[in-house]
Amino acid sequence: MIDSHCHLDFAVFDTDRGEVISRANECGVNAFLIPGTTAEGWDKQRDIKTRYDNIYLAFGWHPWFLPDDIQTGCRQLEQAIGVYSDKIIAVGEVGLDATLPMPMAQQETWLSEQLRLAQQANLPVILHHRKTHHRLPAVIKDSGFTCGGVVHGFSGSPEVAQAYLELGFKLGIGGTITYPRGKKTLATIKAMGLSSILLETDAPDMPMMGFQGQRNEPAHLVGVVQILQGLFEESAEHISHVTDATFRDTFSLA
Ligand SMILES: [Zn+2]
Repeated sequence: MIDSHCHLDFAVFDTDRGEVISRANECGVNAFLIPGTTAEGWDKQRDIKTRYDNIYLAFGWHPWFLPDDIQTGCRQLEQAIGVYSDKIIAVGEVGLDATLPMPMAQQETWLSEQLRLAQQANLPVILHHRKTHHRLPAVIKDSGFTCGGVVHGFSGSPEVAQAYLELGFKLGIGGTITYPRGKKTLATIKAMGLSSILLETDAPDMPMMGFQGQRNEPAHLVGVVQILQGLFEESAEHISHVTDATFRDTFSLA
């Protein structure tokens, strides 16, 4: 099983990162994709990758942490992508978040610029969304971006899912489906099929039902798989096998 979205570089894991990874391994979660958030984070991600096995990295400016100057920020990212091209498998997480004070037009410029850098490096992207499904597919299309990737923390209707799938994106599925409010998204993934999704925890955020208020960690991915077992009437092994293959395919891993 692969946790396709976990922020293991965050300070909240500084004291017991090794134990968190061991606990995940014991639960069958044996690979991790750490998405980028800030330039300082990219450095820390690289350090973590040298210390632990099966760590994959993406670099990008998360919409919550965009620096003041877009030109400097994008130049920094372009440089990091160039220097560490053999270490990263995607650009992200990047996206649009309607709960932020930054005007949407400005966020869209940031997103387009980061999509351009991803396209230039021939890398897929990890997309962050919040109340922005009505804009994201259009911005991707307008940017001419064609390398696909994953819509992290997906929730939404089959129509919304279809728009992303047509653009070459997979749906990142995590803790939200463990709550009653996740019913609509469950119906969507059932309709789209198991091969349209990737598994993720978004650790330390998005705790599973029953773990609210606690730090989330990759070991909890088994809770997501349990729900999917019921939904698809398949074994955990099958779900893990299919989603692992989708992960390798999405990020062009051998
Ligand atoms: Zn994230």
